[in-house]
Amino acid sequence: MIDIKHLSKYFNDQKVLDDITLHVNTGEIFAIVGHSGAGKSTLLRCINGLEGFSEGSVNVLGQEVKHLNESGLGALRSQIGMIFQNFSLLNQKNVYDNIALPMKVWGYSKEKIQGRVDELLKLVGLEAKKCVYPKELSGGQKQRVAIARALTLNPKILLSDEATSALDPNTTKSILELLQEINIKLGVTIIIVTHEMDVVKRVASRALLLEDGKVIGLGRIEELFLRP
Ligand code: ADP
Ligand code: ADP
Repeated sequence: MIDIKHLSKYFNDQKVLDDITLHVNTGEIFAIVGHSGAGKSTLLRCINGLEGFSEGSVNVLGQEVKHLNESGLGALRSQIGMIFQNFSLLNQKNVYDNIALPMKVWGYSKEKIQGRVDELLKLVGLEAKKCVYPKELSGGQKQRVAIARALTLNPKILLSDEATSALDPNTTKSILELLQEINIKLGVTIIIVTHEMDVVKRVASRALLLEDGKVIGLGRIEELFLRP
């Protein structure tokens, strides 16, 4: 699914990713954990081809990311959904239009879009909020809209970048339950980037611990955290 070998990346003279080797299996919920500045977001951006890198290889869904041209990268990104801490919704568009946006960009018919958006609204439990604008939604509801939008094109991978960091504990719990449901029901492979250990322990099967761009731990959650 995702196969990273000896990945290194510099920003100017700073080595922000240092010899990362990592395999994410199809269908798992995998966590990337570390303090702010550890390189977590940069690693995600290397996976979806938003960031180039100096050394190593990143293979996603059988494709070598550094060999893809712009249209290849576009096609790859359509198979990778992303959600963020700040939700990244368009405030001047209602819930329906926010979720519909990726399908509009790819030129789907209005009928296809309506069917898919209704399906996704049901999945995230927001049928009643279809015509509401983001400012009228709670943080948890906004993240549900963002999750629906990330799933619009039926991606195989969902990347979550600190998606629960702005939410209270109960809302965090309900969003994590939704991600688990998406993982199980839709078979979407999920990578969760977080600095919150509770989040990792609650949902992930395996994790990568990053510090200053280096791997300081990689393995199953119980091996990494729960050993006496
Ligand atoms: P994290 O997501 O773990 O907080 P980041 O991947 O955002 O970490 O950042 C890793 C390091 O790379 C940090 O030291 C950050 O300052 C640096 N960095 C991130 N993006 C850039 C950039 N566009 N230009 C220069 N340095 C950057
Ligand atoms: P356009 O593609 O030019 O935005 P549409 O005819 O697709 O126009 O839709 C017009 C507006 O009606 C959209 O902006 C959207 O807000 C709303 N809309 C379309 N379909 C639905 C739907 N099934 N449920 C709720 N609102 C919808």
